[in-house]
Amino acid sequence: MRLSRYFLPVLKETPKEAEIVSHRLMLRAGMIKQEASGLYAWLPLGYKVLRKVQAIIEQEQDRAGAHEMLMPTLQPADLWRESGRYDDYGKEMLRVEDRHGRDLLYGPTNEEMITSVFRANVKSYKDLPLNLYHIQWKFRDEIRPRFGTMRSREFLMKDAYSFDLDKENSIKAYNRMFVAYLRTYKRMGLTAIPMQAETGPIGGDLSHEFIVLADTGESGVFCDSALLDKPIPSIDVDYDGDLSPIVDEWTSLYAATEDMIEMDKFEADVPEERRIAARGIEVGQVFYFGEKYSEPMGAKVTNADGEEVAVHMGSYGIGLTRLLPAIIEASHDDDGIIWPVSVAPFELGLINLKAGDETCVETCQKLYGELKSAGIDVLYDDRDMGAGGKFATADLIGLPFQMIVGPRGLKNGEVEIKDRKTGERSTVLIEAAAEHIRAIIEPLRLDTI
Ligand code: ATP
Ligand code: MG
Repeated sequence: MRLSRYFLPVLKETPKEAEIVSHRLMLRAGMIKQEASGLYAWLPLGYKVLRKVQAIIEQEQDRAGAHEMLMPTLQPADLWRESGRYDDYGKEMLRVEDRHGRDLLYGPTNEEMITSVFRANVKSYKDLPLNLYHIQWKFRDEIRPRFGTMRSREFLMKDAYSFDLDKENSIKAYNRMFVAYLRTYKRMGLTAIPMQAETGPIGGDLSHEFIVLADTGESGVFCDSALLDKPIPSIDVDYDGDLSPIVDEWTSLYAATEDMIEMDKFEADVPEERRIAARGIEVGQVFYFGEKYSEPMGAKVTNADGEEVAVHMGSYGIGLTRLLPAIIEASHDDDGIIWPVSVAPFELGLINLKAGDETCVETCQKLYGELKSAGIDVLYDDRDMGAGGKFATADLIGLPFQMIVGPRGLKNGEVEIKDRKTGERSTVLIEAAAEHIRAIIEPLRLDTI
């Protein structure tokens, strides 16, 4: 992409309304624009990151055996009357009436609707296990939307729903999602710790929240520091095999959110030097809730003995639009965002230090073509302006690498490469530059870990 033709409305001033660094940086980097309280327009740069996050989630969900589909944002109230949640949900639910006087709601979650999809189509245990997911906008009329897209009213969520014959098989489905989540967050450069959690309005008796540690996090969390550098299951993990040893290994180390903390147990289980009491951001949650919806809504299958039984269900959410600020909270400095390569809006910024210099322009053109051919997602800063502003933009929007082309280097047939994270600079011959950066970037995409 040529920056001169892109839509990147970066802000020089620090927006006053933004309380936390990720919100400030998302506004300054021209990723989002607020349209009303808790409602955001996603501008091209922000949307590009969102799509990369979405692609990682889809790959890992698909690998774990879930099937992607799409349900509408609006749902009939009658479905929610069947589960009893229409009245329970309270003011967070946005209720609408259509022209025929029928009650609808903008879905805050989809347990009811997926249960209706299931019961209309699945009748036999032979069709189980089944896991269906979608990535769709949700609406919750949060009493205090804040921190930009971290807690907004309309937000994008991946929600998966598993259906199994009994509890034992449902826990297997839970474990598959648990492992997929560990891999998903890692691929985005995040360390997300699974913590025992309360089930809230979703219901049920088993749940984990996945939490990214950050000072600005809204949840108080307590955990064993050994969880921070535990290796995650690799790409060849066998989803058809027994995953309980992996999940047990993770869940046997102490980690709980503040509403679930048992201080005695925390202190007994974790040696003092490994105790972490911190703040965290909830980037996902998994639930097993058995027959909570299938029973009242009649989602039943016949078992091997020909009896009709209510299926056991679980649900598994990830907040996509919250993940972006969570990544930024975990990875930024005074100059701006530092994107991990796997979700960066562009992997490389190609910077022409001297606009108007014929050799610089020519070399940049040539490199731009070579980089694109090498499969690098490159943003070419071809704007007619000084070098300072170009560096500031590349740093602010968080491009992981910069390739800098200037008259001095060109005399020696060289260009410079800067690593955004470490600040390290190195020089490389022009002819070798595209291949050189490809070899650096490729493993950082983390798509084969
Ligand atoms: P919270 O406790 O933060 O309000 P929740 O527990 O009510 O969230 P879930 O029902 O577990 O949320 O939804 C799944 C995921 O969706 C959450 O883990 C979170 O990442 C995301 N999410 C929930 N509410 C919001 C929101 N208002 N804005 C952005 N993301 C959200
Ligand atoms: Mg939650």
